[in-house]
Amino acid sequence: MKKRSIWEYPIEEQEITSIEEKETDVFIIGGGITGIMLAYFLKDSNKKILLADKGRIGNGVTARTTAKISYIQGDIYQKLKKNFNYDVSYQYYKSQKDAIKLLTEVVDKEKIDCELKEVPFVLFTTEEKNRKKIEEEKKLLEQFGEHPVEFLNPKIKSGIEVSNTYVFHPLKFVNGVRKCLGNSIKIYENTLVTNIEKKDDFYLVSAGGKKIKAKYVAVTCHYPFFLVPGFIPFKTYIKREYVNAGKYKVEKEYSMVNVDKNLQSVRFYHDYILYDSNNHKLTSKIEYGKNYGQSQEDYKKHFSTAPSYSFMNQDIVSHDDLPLIGSIDKNLFLSTAYHAWGMTNGVLGASILADQIEGKKNPYEKLYNPKRGNLVLFINSFLGIFCYLKAYILSVFKKNNLSYITIHGITYAIYKDKKNNLHKVSLICPHMKCPLVFNQEEETWDCPCHGSRFTIDGKLIEGPSKEKIQKKV
Ligand SMILES: Cc1cc2nc3c(=O)[nH]c(=O)nc-3n(C[C@H](O)[C@H](O)[C@H](O)COP(=O)(O)OP(=O)(O)OC[C@H]3O[C@@H](n4cnc5c(N)ncnc54)[C@H](O)[C@@H]3O)c2cc1C
Repeated sequence: MKKRSIWEYPIEEQEITSIEEKETDVFIIGGGITGIMLAYFLKDSNKKILLADKGRIGNGVTARTTAKISYIQGDIYQKLKKNFNYDVSYQYYKSQKDAIKLLTEVVDKEKIDCELKEVPFVLFTTEEKNRKKIEEEKKLLEQFGEHPVEFLNPKIKSGIEVSNTYVFHPLKFVNGVRKCLGNSIKIYENTLVTNIEKKDDFYLVSAGGKKIKAKYVAVTCHYPFFLVPGFIPFKTYIKREYVNAGKYKVEKEYSMVNVDKNLQSVRFYHDYILYDSNNHKLTSKIEYGKNYGQSQEDYKKHFSTAPSYSFMNQDIVSHDDLPLIGSIDKNLFLSTAYHAWGMTNGVLGASILADQIEGKKNPYEKLYNPKRGNLVLFINSFLGIFCYLKAYILSVFKKNNLSYITIHGITYAIYKDKKNNLHKVSLICPHMKCPLVFNQEEETWDCPCHGSRFTIDGKLIEGPSKEKIQKKV
């Protein structure tokens, strides 16, 4: 079994260059689907654009997605109707349809070979008690003007099917878009951004050890590495999911997602089935290694064979279920919290930021305003603090089956790998000082509060931390 994402894309080895520019009009931080699409939308804007990614383009969360492009997203429409009202639910629907149109038009116009394919989408439940959720989602979709049809299958209790939904290869898409940018936009890979300093009418961005002056800064790095402005850790939580994939014969191809508490989501890619399941809040079920094992067991139970690929991924969810997209300070923009639907929301976020940077009105800027306040967001943000606290306490008492030593009041964990090499790190995440949890399955140190991940030697894999684990012995 391969413990890595199913998506592979041959990337040429890059000569590591450091940023030459001293200033730019727009500085884009992060080249996942959001950052690269933002660069695309701005490419004819006559603005000087620079994009820096701490790794390779497309190799963040976008590389471990299941890449279903859909406006059916679990029971999102009834959630938004409940959290806000019918109009917000409808606006969200419209924005998702617009994002699908935008994405497919770009693929078409630029002739991007990313295996984009129209595939029907099924929303289903396997639980009697959730039939009502399917009916409610169907009713809302009909009010929006869709015509969902009943989907029958002996393994489910209730289901509906819609069309105009797609699947693609996310890395082929991102790299295809990158090629359309030509040389007009400077892209720097392996370039970590560590700070954004506000000056009078510009920002100083610290990237790859240099300071670059920028008029506009777009934070498209998934989880921002700063707390202020935006206060994103308080407005959001992180959801982790496990994807298992293996060979599977199917007569009619479709994608699926359920409305039940335990996620089940399916898509096909060539002769593979990708099964996404066992979702949980990062702050709960912190036995990350065990969760992996459980997801593989579930895959075996459903498909009577062990998976060929097994990988996990995490995405950000806002406490009121709407993405956070737009300005968080003068000329400082952010796009995040796609609640595991970033193929549409990443493109949408990029288009909103591009319009705002160009001073154009966008129909969705009010809907997604990251500075919004509402009662649902406020209450859930408050409750979210207890989830962080719970994770903090659980991880302090979790012994990880490792040896520990305390030197000058600092506790270090000692991990012995399969070759009997010892790896020692301190247990504190540099981001907001949460205790780290050992993820046996991937041999990583994971922060149960905000999702930063580190290697067994403390090197940074994934932010929001912008540093390696400090005080290594
Ligand atoms: C299991 C799973 C399945 C999913 N399936 C689907 C699906 O079927 N359909 C769908 O629509 N969505 C899906 N999603 C959601 C989707 O994958 C994400 O929402 C989306 O990929 C996020 O894109 P992004 O551009 O915001 O982030 P990323 O792809 O993570 O891009 C951010 C980039 O910023 C870089 N970066 C980070 N910090 C810094 C820094 N300090 N300096 C410089 N660069 C930095 C990173 O290296 C990275 O390349 C899924 C999510 C999960 C967890």
